[in-house]
Amino acid sequence: MITVDNVFKHFEQGDMKIEVLKGVNLSIKKGEFVAIMGPSGSGKSTLLQLLGGLDTPSSGHVRIQENSFSDLNEKKRTIVRRKDIGFIFQNYQLLSTLTVEENIAFPLHADGRKDKDGEEKIRSIINEVGLEGLEKKSPNLLSGGQQQRVSIARGLIHEPKILLADEPTGNLDRKRAEEILELLAKFNKERKQSIIMVTHDIFAAGYADKIILFKDGVIDKEVTREDQDYAEYLASFLA
Ligand code: ADP
Ligand code: MG
Repeated sequence: MITVDNVFKHFEQGDMKIEVLKGVNLSIKKGEFVAIMGPSGSGKSTLLQLLGGLDTPSSGHVRIQENSFSDLNEKKRTIVRRKDIGFIFQNYQLLSTLTVEENIAFPLHADGRKDKDGEEKIRSIINEVGLEGLEKKSPNLLSGGQQQRVSIARGLIHEPKILLADEPTGNLDRKRAEEILELLAKFNKERKQSIIMVTHDIFAAGYADKIILFKDGVIDKEVTREDQDYAEYLASFLA
């Protein structure tokens, strides 16, 4: 589904060159739930931006199915991004001038066309994330957990193949976080959507099939649920 092939990324600031990704290789299968962990500033969000086609590598390739983002022009990249990818962020990034319902509907109209099943899709996803009765409210009036539900519904309304989540539970208490993670796990199972989630929280990472540990711009360690040392690995964080 996704392959990352020897990806380097640097940023230039004045005459300083900041090397962020230093040769990342990665492959993510259809329906896989992957957690990316690592210290602050290690390049996790940068990698997520590249996976979502929001930015391009300095060198190397990011492929979504057969499409390499670097071979596509800006316009084609935008099309792939809008069709195949959903995003969720730590700070929700909802538009306060729109209602809950309008926020959720946003990706359906992103390409300027009207989705004829749009109304039905919106009603159905609102039920699935448990926001019935709040459709007409401004997101500002909702709790953090509810706002993240709106953001999940918006991230999934267009049925993307891949959901990218950058610290989706970072602003939530344990109970709210658990509810959000259960919801992500449910969508992942039922719809076979791949989820790539950046997190600081080993509890959240425990929901993933595969945990990738990032350090100094490269992948330091990768463990999957099938690995002998998976449980041991999780426990080592909690010790
Ligand atoms: P993480 O998500 O792991 O905390 P980031 O990917 O956000 O790390 O950032 C990694 C490094 O890249 C940081 O040092 C950050 O300052 C730098 N960085 C990220 N985006 C930019 C940018 N657009 N311009 C300059 N530096 C950036
Ligand atoms: Mg980050």
